[in-house]
Amino acid sequence: MPLLADVAVPVPLSQAFTYEVPAALADGVRPGARVLCDFHRRKLLGVVLAVSERSAAIDPAKIKPLAALVDARPALPAELLSFLQELAAYYFAPIGEVLRLALPAIEREQVRALKAQGELDGVLDLARAKQVGGRKVAFARPTDVIEEPGTLRGQAAAVLALLRAGGEQPVARLEERFGNARNALKKLAERGLVALDEREPPRDPFFRLAEERDVPPELNEAQAEAAARIDAALAALPPPPADGAPRPHAGDEPRAAGPSAFLLFGVTGSGKTEVYLRAIKGCLERGRGALVMVPEIALTPQLVARFRARFGDELAVLHSGLSDADRHAMWASLHSGRVRVAIGARSALFAPVPALGLILVDEEHDGSFKQEEGVRYHARDMALLRAHRAGAVCVLGSATPSIESVALVRRGKLAELRLPERAHREASLPEVTLVDLRRFGPGPSGDPLISLPLHRALEKTLAAKEQAILFLNRRGFAPSVVCGSCGTLTTCEACSVALTYHRGRRRDPPRPAGAVAGAGAGAGAPAPAPAAAELDERPQGGRLRCHYCDYMGPLPERCAACGSRSLLLEGLGTERLEATIAESFPEARVARLDRDVAGKDRSQVILARMREGKIDILVGTQMVTKGHDLPNVTLVGVVNADAALGLPDFRAAERGFQLLVQVAGRAGRRDRPGRVLIQTRNPEHPAIAFAAAHNVPGFLEREIRDREEVGYPPATRLALIRVDAVDEAVGRGAAAKIAACARTSPEGLARRVEVLGPSAAPIARLRGRYRFRVLLRARERGPLRIALAAIARLLRDDLDRGARAIIDVDPVSML
Ligand code: ADP
Ligand code: ZN
Ligand code: ZN
Repeated sequence: MPLLADVAVPVPLSQAFTYEVPAALADGVRPGARVLCDFHRRKLLGVVLAVSERSAAIDPAKIKPLAALVDARPALPAELLSFLQELAAYYFAPIGEVLRLALPAIEREQVRALKAQGELDGVLDLARAKQVGGRKVAFARPTDVIEEPGTLRGQAAAVLALLRAGGEQPVARLEERFGNARNALKKLAERGLVALDEREPPRDPFFRLAEERDVPPELNEAQAEAAARIDAALAALPPPPADGAPRPHAGDEPRAAGPSAFLLFGVTGSGKTEVYLRAIKGCLERGRGALVMVPEIALTPQLVARFRARFGDELAVLHSGLSDADRHAMWASLHSGRVRVAIGARSALFAPVPALGLILVDEEHDGSFKQEEGVRYHARDMALLRAHRAGAVCVLGSATPSIESVALVRRGKLAELRLPERAHREASLPEVTLVDLRRFGPGPSGDPLISLPLHRALEKTLAAKEQAILFLNRRGFAPSVVCGSCGTLTTCEACSVALTYHRGRRRDPPRPAGAVAGAGAGAGAPAPAPAAAELDERPQGGRLRCHYCDYMGPLPERCAACGSRSLLLEGLGTERLEATIAESFPEARVARLDRDVAGKDRSQVILARMREGKIDILVGTQMVTKGHDLPNVTLVGVVNADAALGLPDFRAAERGFQLLVQVAGRAGRRDRPGRVLIQTRNPEHPAIAFAAAHNVPGFLEREIRDREEVGYPPATRLALIRVDAVDEAVGRGAAAKIAACARTSPEGLARRVEVLGPSAAPIARLRGRYRFRVLLRARERGPLRIALAAIARLLRDDLDRGARAIIDVDPVSML
């Protein structure tokens, strides 16, 4: 019988393809290895899923041999490969696309080897694949040797002078300046005046900065209890499998006594991170590797620093800012088993951690764990799955656990660990005051969203030389532009959403008279802003921007509907808040942190300045809520708590609540008591009332009951079929067909699956495409999956070509 391999190729199809394994490759072709294979007259890079000796199910004459083997050692370890296959099945995602999430770049040496075999003729795919490694950069550095005077001339003398003045330089840079640099360097090196050496290009800063090792503090009682329970679970793990193979059928076999998945529910500052660090230590001591997932690694350099201080070079840091070479170096260090701990955002889920024994998900409630494009997976849910299948322990941590995780605790799937108090004995939770905007008018700034109590609290904070954070989850200057005559809202031409006015041009906070704060628009700061300001009073140079597509354009002269010139800027965004605050508190140093000012590095710079006390008031969006330890912040103002609560989404209350608790948690750490002002027109709203009372369990209890009543997760399971098309009728037709398919399926007819829609999506048009959706809801996962399988077949074989449709299992964004 022939040796056959099932190979997944990067095409949007869910099945694998069968190839024959030539005798010469029989040793190396193993599951997880990449191979080159012929596919419709092209050569594609595929991944072997399985190899077996069997008679083919199809005509043996049609089975082609594999063309070449790319990886000497499988790029995907068995544990990871089987997890990826399960993930693909769970989300109805094409296996080829799922594998791509985990595959490393190709090393140049591998490419060279294939070229030598003559295998690369006509391989489009590989040419486009990212290639890394094998590239070294030459550096020249001056030595201590002194030349005999007068023996050097021309470019050699100039190059040496430059190196002596500026120190080591890449040879390539010298060549840009001196046409003859190579010759000159050769001459200098022969005389021992310059040393040349070849190195890998410089590495990511996370890599380079050596962190001083810290001394672990003694755990408090609650931490010790939590750490001990996690440690007991680690101790109960079977020894690491020699070949990294997964357990055949996890779930069926009896597990060692005690739970292996936990929810670590600890208030902000309660010392969850210290518990994670201990758990990792215990995991490493048992010969296993650990994986840590955090929401947004660019915003949490301090957190990463704490891990590095404990584990040094045992830690691979994965983040989106890495160069391809650095990413590959991180991947290779894990894959080879040299490094056993990985930390990163969502995509770290696919890190090839050796002998995986522990997965930690910090801030498990965070929305960024859900990928919203391509393969729409949820990294927290999948962390539980991967850990379970690998026989590893999983710990989800949060101060505001997701309703899903709380439900898992109730169903006995997660064991709860609590840290009820802040770790520093002196640090108490901040005092929260609700400011009812219906009762309090505007303060001296004139803006109704800077109420008198908020204004006074800011004054007090500044007087005490302490810092404040103002949170507003709207970017830009004014969230909408409205016609003063007919009320028409200016919307994006490609999307059915309001355009936001950005005044743009960052400027330094105004300083006392005399200091010039950037020329032009910024200098003529606006008069204290009323709720809606006439455009004519605005400085020129602003832009309208769509926050959903990349549209950016000038302010129109007139209303598109009635031609009136009276366009009003409505609402308050962070840009305008910053300007108004700077105006009202001219002596304060005001800065802003949102996506408009903060690229990857910029946010760290702003936060570092905040930590150093060079900013008095920091205005910002969600970005200010992510776990930064800012000890001198004693006031947190939530400018408009209602903004998040009105979204057409069953999770709006949960998200609003989490945001409020997290942002409030920024106030008062260490020895300074903190104060939080929450401005709202809705003080009775449960999300606001429970947040103000620091009553997280109370909110969770109530929210779970509410979900049960309205039949939303976790009481039920959802899948959203998202359809879009340039042509509205085509999109609507496709959605109707999908809904009909679900309704007439046996599950639909038996009402085991409820079909809602088709309907227009809340954002009915996006980037020029009309959007529709069909929502499936079921009490049990089984019937939902059967209905989805029918829809998946329809999408593959029978959908109008002008429409796109994707299945979003366990959707997070409902927009
Ligand atoms: P969380 O992750 O729950 O928000 P952290 O782990 O950041 O909390 O802890 C908050 C602060 O308390 C940090 O400054 C940390 O160093 C400190 N801390 C944590 N555990 C202890 C402990 N057992 N003894 C003293 N300080 C601690
Ligand atoms: Zn108008
Ligand atoms: Zn748009």
